Amino acid sequence: MPGLPAAVTLDLWEGAEGLPPVERALALAVAAGPPTDATALAALPLGRRDARLLRLRTVLAGERLEATAVCPSCGEVVEFAADAGALLARDEALPPAEAVELDGFVVRWRPPDSRDVAAAAEVGDEAAAERVLLARCVTSATGPDGAVEGPALPAAVRRAVAEAMAAADPLAEVLVDVACPACEGAFVADLDVAGFVWAEIREEARRLLHEVDVLARAYGWTEVDVVALSPRRRGKERRDRLPLPCRCARRRPRSGGGAAAAGAVRRAGCARRRGRSRGRRGGVRGAGRNGATR
Ligand SMILES: [Zn+2]
Repeated sequence: MPGLPAAVTLDLWEGAEGLPPVERALALAVAAGPPTDATALAALPLGRRDARLLRLRTVLAGERLEATAVCPSCGEVVEFAADAGALLARDEALPPAEAVELDGFVVRWRPPDSRDVAAAAEVGDEAAAERVLLARCVTSATGPDGAVEGPALPAAVRRAVAEAMAAADPLAEVLVDVACPACEGAFVADLDVAGFVWAEIREEARRLLHEVDVLARAYGWTEVDVVALSPRRRGKERRDRLPLPCRCARRRPRSGGGAAAAGAVRRAGCARRRGRSRGRRGGVRGAGRNGATR
């Protein structure tokens, strides 16, 4: 991520690369500050965790998140943008979580956190993920015939619970309306905040490692020597040694998009068509919440 000190970027990348998506998001959220531990962050609603990442990204690289999504109708890769400031504003002054009352059912619930999402991600499909989240996040439910388990609630009640969860934690799933210029269709892109921020950090780490490689070969410097240089000096030295455009610095990792488990409960109540989103900033692609980076 531009603006993050080089040594911090490399440490973050090294520590988070290879972790499962939820653990990686937690590692980034810990680093984003203010100081706390992963256990406490894991108990935060998902959107609250990701708000830390958005605030860090805003400070270091601005509020504009540029992304691409594949149009589900025609396959066109469509660019769109989201505003981190506006997203963060959604997270303020939220109503308290209240019981859902519908058709004689009274359901008490809590928003899914990172551990809930990790558990849901282990099952095979979206319907199963929804059942896992309802089993974990419905704290009590009663119906006309007495107590009932979350996954056994009627579909209409499950949808109402999903909507209540989405309203209580609006950053848990960031949906952006996108218009496709190719087919003039409209669809909803699902922007994964943690995946987007991770992709930026990973891309910046790769660029830094390339600079280390070039300058170490040229001058016999160590990684510590190179990383200690200011970004301006490091860039100048690399350009001096490698004047042609550097392919490695522009490499664009692809990634899958669209939340799988995290938004399963929410999506149960959403029939809108959606596309797959990819973060794009300086060639960065955001990873999907399900970690389908490829
Ligand atoms: Zn299209």
